[in-house]
Amino acid sequence: MALLHYGKPLVVMDSGGKDSAVCREIVRRSGVPHEIRHSLTTADAPQTVYYIRGQFKQAEETGIRCEVFFPYYKGQRTTMWRLIPAKKIPPTRIARYCCEVLKEGNGNGRFIVTGVRWAESYKRKQRGIYESFAKTKKNKIILNNDNDDRRMLFESCRLKSKHVCNPIIDWTDRDVWEYIRAEKIPVNPLYDMGFLRVGCIGCTMAGKQRYREFALFPTYKRAYIRAFEQMLLIRRQEGKDDSPGRWKDAQGVFHWWMEEDPMPGQYELLWDEETEELYY
Ligand code: SF4
Repeated sequence: MALLHYGKPLVVMDSGGKDSAVCREIVRRSGVPHEIRHSLTTADAPQTVYYIRGQFKQAEETGIRCEVFFPYYKGQRTTMWRLIPAKKIPPTRIARYCCEVLKEGNGNGRFIVTGVRWAESYKRKQRGIYESFAKTKKNKIILNNDNDDRRMLFESCRLKSKHVCNPIIDWTDRDVWEYIRAEKIPVNPLYDMGFLRVGCIGCTMAGKQRYREFALFPTYKRAYIRAFEQMLLIRRQEGKDDSPGRWKDAQGVFHWWMEEDPMPGQYELLWDEETEELYY
């Protein structure tokens, strides 16, 4: 289908996590012509960067084209630390602009394979496996790496001219680990360090795991705090008065962001369904 629709091989999107490792392996075994791509988020742990480098080197030696994509925002190369001041709010569970900018761009115009899987739910059993183009914005899955009941084996995005195949959509965590062990697939060394998920250091989706991440990688904590400082500077220049709340300084933003000690008067980011904008 990739060759038919796009005249180009399938693209396996490799995040550096265990689900991507399984996808890489099953696509390789299928014999389907393919390439592998990784989006450098700039907030990945060094272990992820070295792991990807090693896996890509091995794949290239067998003739598979591998590419690492650098993130761009408004036509300029960016990083997590530049994006936060540019967006003027920290990334949160409901404002995951970082994934959209740092991870999403590089599969546009291609037929891609991702390792997303269904969230644990029985609802999924009533759903089919093929999703045609989403009719409303509300029903659209925006991010490639969202595990969600609504995900399908095959998906399409007309806007980005992208087709998606999620071949392990119905695999459980146990299935993934059993396959990895049985087939001796090398995985990111972060799992051996006790990480349950692999993503950016400090990702809000990691919940309380973030405390451990920042203890292991304190440089990233400092980088977030510096980015929050820049963010507050820009907000002040634009006349926003953060002095009465938890955002009075970068440390305050960091504590708020880590969801520590909710206090009366602290900012709560909310999503307005009507306008599809964040407010607080
Ligand atoms: S993995 Fe988390 S922190 Fe990284 S880009 Fe995606 S949402 Fe943002």
